[in-house]
Amino acid sequence: MTIMTYGDNIGNSMLKTLEHDPVFRSVAYFSMEIAIRPEIPTYSGGLGVLAGDIIKSAADLGVPMAAVTLLYRKGYFIQHVDQEGYQRESPVEWKPEEYLTLLPNEISVMLEGRPVKVRAWVYDYVGQSGYPLPIYFLDTDFESNAPADRNLTWHLYGGDQRYRLCQELILGVGGLRMLRDLGYRNIKTFHLNEGHAGFITLELLREQGYEDYDKIRDKVIFTTHTPVPAGHDHFSYELIDKVMDPVFVHHIKRMMGPEGVSMTELGLRYSRYTNAVSIKHAEVSRNMFNSANIDAVTNGVHSTTWTCPGFAKLYDRYIAGWRNDPSRLIQALQLPDEEVWKAHQAAKMKLLARVLEETGRELDADVLTIGFARRAAAYKRADLLFSDVKRLIDVCSGQVQFIFAGKAHPHDEPGKAMIKRIHQMAKEIGSAVPIVFLENYDMSLASLLTSGVDLWLNNPRRPREASGTSGMKCTHNGVMNFSVLDGWWIEGWVEDVTGWSIGPDPEEAELVEYDEMQDAMDLYNKLEDKVIPTYYQHREKWIWMMKHAIALNASYFNTHRVVKEYCEKAYGVVFRGL
Ligand SMILES: *Cc1c(COP(=O)(O)O)cnc(C)c1O
Repeated sequence: MTIMTYGDNIGNSMLKTLEHDPVFRSVAYFSMEIAIRPEIPTYSGGLGVLAGDIIKSAADLGVPMAAVTLLYRKGYFIQHVDQEGYQRESPVEWKPEEYLTLLPNEISVMLEGRPVKVRAWVYDYVGQSGYPLPIYFLDTDFESNAPADRNLTWHLYGGDQRYRLCQELILGVGGLRMLRDLGYRNIKTFHLNEGHAGFITLELLREQGYEDYDKIRDKVIFTTHTPVPAGHDHFSYELIDKVMDPVFVHHIKRMMGPEGVSMTELGLRYSRYTNAVSIKHAEVSRNMFNSANIDAVTNGVHSTTWTCPGFAKLYDRYIAGWRNDPSRLIQALQLPDEEVWKAHQAAKMKLLARVLEETGRELDADVLTIGFARRAAAYKRADLLFSDVKRLIDVCSGQVQFIFAGKAHPHDEPGKAMIKRIHQMAKEIGSAVPIVFLENYDMSLASLLTSGVDLWLNNPRRPREASGTSGMKCTHNGVMNFSVLDGWWIEGWVEDVTGWSIGPDPEEAELVEYDEMQDAMDLYNKLEDKVIPTYYQHREKWIWMMKHAIALNASYFNTHRVVKEYCEKAYGVVFRGL
């Protein structure tokens, strides 16, 4: 094994100060997906975007962190929706060498009784004050490995249980081995962003000579992200026996008991600190996992990434220091109305130009435009809007237009059916209520949408939305939320001030099934009674609300605040700023 320091390999002399050496980094952030920029397609949705945003804020704030994920050569996938509304998927073509640097280090992980070699590519995200934060992308696709092992790092969330188990062993066990090989010796906190990297616990156990399971906990913290059961990996011992190193099998069975391995359980049991991603989600998770020790750190977004150029210019002019201290966005209340409106209309035109280019549909920039874009998972209910089509037309005809986007996981048939439904509705009622679907929702499209629409619609089935982050991106661009009271919105919602709610208060809506029609009716009623009249008849009130969305929501729901919270509550890193 070669011991090299990170600084030796990166030829960028400006950044080569001692402080940037791996030895001085104390936090390692592990995530199955990381979305750092649109050209690196190693993410599928909210989890990856959050990871990228946290990394960016950590770099801006000078937090001594390094990040680890996998290099997916085939990305997630490119979405096409055909004439009939069927989603088709094709692999993403990208060249890691265009954005990342291959390192000479190589480690191996035992899978199915043979050593699989792993190497790493690095991407340096450089924070606003010049502090670099390395992100390591693990890769098995090179000559030393057999063809079947080379493809282990090709697909994000592709393949079967065996494929996933192999990937998670590469991420957890391989990731830690790689960090050691790179010279990281003083990591005090391994942050598991969701359970996927939980096998890090086994490698930590090996490092201490398999002595004390309880001691693993000292070095690990865990963030749980979803109250949807399908979001939690579970591996049977039948599979684990086949794939995992026998020494690890012996210990994982003793650590986890007879039922197989739930990666969430693993994270919960062997972390010194666990958090959920909103206050409501913490409450739901404490019940779900029967554990009192689940804290809440509500998610955020990276402010400068998700603020469109027009608004960034405005903030630069009127709000000193907002870029590295987004809490200052409180001062948005002082922005001149005309300039806010102009910046917004400019972003809207950009989005409508994209719509025209891609769909041939010319939308009107003076018509209230509502956006709905997120992974096409059933619980997000993209089709709730179509519960009563006649009512929808009555309320919206000539007054509202809708823009949809979102990918369904390739195996998610209900998700795909939802896309088909939107497509079909667009055909049926499009002349009264224009509806367009933009293909291939990704970071770039998310930027355009979350700045270019007038209002962001969010109506998941409660309490499934752990947090949600797209609505936070909107608030950075003066786009208000119109949302079910779930996830972050319970904390960000001030009725008639930062946006509007849909459906019952969170206390009223319990975990049990409730009448979904209630949400749909409330949605139509509020559109009719509040949203549409405010937009068309009380424009000054609308702009007043836009400014309050920025001042009250964006100032808080940003990853600078999130990273500071992690430093205080979980990392034990004294926040020193830059
Ligand atoms: C922000 C973002 C998400 C997360 O949005 P939610 O509101 O959590 O559903 C998903 N996908 C992309 C491409 C994003 O940019």
